Amino acid sequence: MHIRKLKLVNFRNYESAELEFSPLTNIIYGNNAQGKTNILEAVYLFSQGRSHRAKTDKELVRFGEDFAKLKLEFEDSERTYTGKMQILKNGRKAVRINHVDITKLSQLMNYLNVVMFSPEDLNMVKGSPNVRRRFADGAISQLYPLYMASLREYNKVIDQKNSLLRNAKYNNQNVRDTLWIWNEQLAGLAVRIMHSRAEFSKQIAEYVRIIGNDISGEEIVLRYTPNIRLDEVTEESVYEFLNGRADREIDAASSLYGIQRDDFEIRINGRDSKLFASQGQQRTVALSMKIAQSEYINEIKGEYPILLLDDIMSELDIKRRMYLSEQIRDKQVLITSTDVDINGSTTDTRLFKIDKGAVIDVS
Ligand code: ATP
Ligand code: MG
Repeated sequence: MHIRKLKLVNFRNYESAELEFSPLTNIIYGNNAQGKTNILEAVYLFSQGRSHRAKTDKELVRFGEDFAKLKLEFEDSERTYTGKMQILKNGRKAVRINHVDITKLSQLMNYLNVVMFSPEDLNMVKGSPNVRRRFADGAISQLYPLYMASLREYNKVIDQKNSLLRNAKYNNQNVRDTLWIWNEQLAGLAVRIMHSRAEFSKQIAEYVRIIGNDISGEEIVLRYTPNIRLDEVTEESVYEFLNGRADREIDAASSLYGIQRDDFEIRINGRDSKLFASQGQQRTVALSMKIAQSEYINEIKGEYPILLLDDIMSELDIKRRMYLSEQIRDKQVLITSTDVDINGSTTDTRLFKIDKGAVIDVS
């Protein structure tokens, strides 16, 4: 799958811009704060329905304007698509693909898949479990909408259970006899989520191992470490597990066990990368995970996603750079950079210079 053309009106610092992409490498370069990341953000919006960095959609509308308009033309092996998006300054958003209204933004992933690498992704290695869960959840949801639905439902029920536990403590009520109702619902959802996370990490771990080895000869081992550890994960066993710990949760007035506490362990050369990974190793790990994600999408969908690499090249040493160039040679990728390194670029590479919200197509 690849994107062909992006049009922006009053989006971020662009008054009006149009970019026609190469189906292979696209390099978006320019000084800091000119609008490079804004381009990747616009493409990302058409896949995920929300920005990878904005807190609210209001931020996306150019200062002083009433609305932003975006148009993206893209295609997969079967057909072509035109996506249109309008964002009002109050944050309201309307999206259409081929003249059909998209009512649920999660539907966008059925049309366009992207994998974004941004500098914040280094947190996947040393950050809290939350960051790794978000990576896994995002990656699985992109392929399995039902997973996202289960996750949403689970979060709703866990919120209810938490307020029940809190209220019980506060009002000195006995919930010992009613807590099982919530645990029963949670167990059903948790089993599905745990199976998906386990399956995902098994698949992706294999790619990560190979990619890590190719990039730097290092051994990266990724493993799902669920909070509820059981020999056999079934609705029954999870339910029993939770019920058996009801007293502790009542005492703590909060849900202590469940998929909200899952993590993924990453070991590099036998050591926990959370504690021991160097800066360069963190980069290798995060990059391996993102490339693994794109391989995984291709395996399931038969189409590579569009790779959006924000500010990554300048941070990599020459060996890692070369590996990455080799990896992306035959896939569509948008790379931002403050300096152009045309090394290894071919006639299929397009260069866009960005200067204060203006695009200068130099190739
Ligand atoms: P860097 O190399 O530092 O990452 P960049 O080229 O990626 O820079 P972007 O993050 O794409 O920069 O764009 C930042 C610019 O966009 C800033 O100058 C910022 O003030 C401007 N900007 C952000 N949101 C808006 C908006 N809603 N309206 C107008 N300008 C905006
Ligand atoms: Mg940037």
